[in-house]
Amino acid sequence: MAQDPRPLVAGNWKMNGLAASVAELEAIMAGVAEKAPAADLMICPPATLISLFAKTAAGSGIAIGAQDCHAEVSGAFTGDLSAEMLKDAGASAVIVGHSERRTLHGESDEMVRAKAIAARRAGLTAILCVGETREEREANATIARIHRQLDGSLPDTLDGLVIAYEPVWAIGTGLTPTPEDVAKVHEMIRNYLISKDKSAGPAIRILYGGSVKPQNARELMAVRNVNGALVGGASLKAADFLGIAAAYA
Ligand code: PEP
Repeated sequence: MAQDPRPLVAGNWKMNGLAASVAELEAIMAGVAEKAPAADLMICPPATLISLFAKTAAGSGIAIGAQDCHAEVSGAFTGDLSAEMLKDAGASAVIVGHSERRTLHGESDEMVRAKAIAARRAGLTAILCVGETREEREANATIARIHRQLDGSLPDTLDGLVIAYEPVWAIGTGLTPTPEDVAKVHEMIRNYLISKDKSAGPAIRILYGGSVKPQNARELMAVRNVNGALVGGASLKAADFLGIAAAYA
């Protein structure tokens, strides 16, 4: 049987953090220097902090990612940032298709797919988010919804990609699916990836995201085919982020 991929615990800071927040990154670095978890770690700060964070974290083993990118390399797109610019600033990855982008910025599966392709073009790992709404879950449509999102947003080339399963209703709410429910969705995603690419599919990391805290991380990370976490609120405090990463002791 293929070996499980090395886990990834990534923190999505969303629109939080100023230059002084580098102290939180330094506290994470100190925690890792004392006791490194058996997982890769990443912080995705706002774009304004990527350069500072990448310089600060250099050599620490903590990767720095971005939260979104434009699909084009350059051009008349006021306020947008290309994957190439993020890479130039020091990012090694970018989140694409986060539910807040899909909902608040009207991003379609097609746009998410174009962004994932752009990430690869620039040499960034794309962390591609999928997840059902509360209404879809209540209508027993979770699997169908995730399937549609994968169909519409996955690029043709899968290697190097990371998938994040984030139930929309679990983000920032303190609610989480049961481990059994997480297992069902992650198994479906794993099978989907393998059906698309037999050699890359088993090695793609499938993260769980949605109200992951130090208190529930061990149980959620122990679920089969869960290869790490995408963490929002709890990634803003070094102690909480390290507490989650410690699930991989
Ligand atoms: C997220 O927004 O990616 C997320 C998982 O948020 P939270 O951990 O706060 O639910």
